[in-house]
Amino acid sequence: MASVIDEPLKRQHRQKRIASEDEKSVLQCKVGNPNCGINLGESLAQGAIGVMPCDVCCAEPDFCRECLCLLCGKKMRCGFNAYTSVRCFARLSGGGFCGHAAHLMCALECQLAGVVKQLGLDMEYVCRRCDSKTDLRGHVVRLLDSLRYSSCRFTVEKNLGTALRIIQGTEDGGAKCLVHHLQTAIQMIWKGSDIRVVYDLLDGKKEIPAD
Ligand SMILES: [Zn+2]
Ligand SMILES: [Zn+2]
Ligand SMILES: [Zn+2]
Ligand SMILES: [Zn+2]
Repeated sequence: MASVIDEPLKRQHRQKRIASEDEKSVLQCKVGNPNCGINLGESLAQGAIGVMPCDVCCAEPDFCRECLCLLCGKKMRCGFNAYTSVRCFARLSGGGFCGHAAHLMCALECQLAGVVKQLGLDMEYVCRRCDSKTDLRGHVVRLLDSLRYSSCRFTVEKNLGTALRIIQGTEDGGAKCLVHHLQTAIQMIWKGSDIRVVYDLLDGKKEIPAD
């Protein structure tokens, strides 16, 4: 008997709760990813400047601009140290920035990153959402730097491979030299060389002079 009387009250309560969750949704990860930058307090897409309104992917209830890849829709590593993904910081009309991101590997597979002559990309990434380019030299440096604190040979091989794919075919004189060093480094890892030794080989050669 009591439950019947309680029912409208409960419903009211539930509606209130849903409303307050809606209000907070701007600051919460829409897909409930505990490792989302928003939840880590390291959001790169929800900074002080704000992001551009997006009625394409971001209007979808199951897409989070902060932690999902624009290309495959799967989770990306978030936070300031994430170098396996690339985020577009292009400032767009209206003052906000794009803020969409993708896995580097997805961008490379889709021919939206690296050296892609048809798109005029040289060690760059082009955002599929806003068509702006992002320089990937910083990513190359961070991928090579990852050898300093990684003891996993699989990760090291993968990171070196990703760096090589970004710069392979470049017209940049300084980076051409690095292509050769990277190929050597990958071979050394295959043959069982110590990660430290490989890092030392690459150290000092990873700064790509702009010319
Ligand atoms: Zn998220
Ligand atoms: Zn979007
Ligand atoms: Zn992806
Ligand atoms: Zn963009």
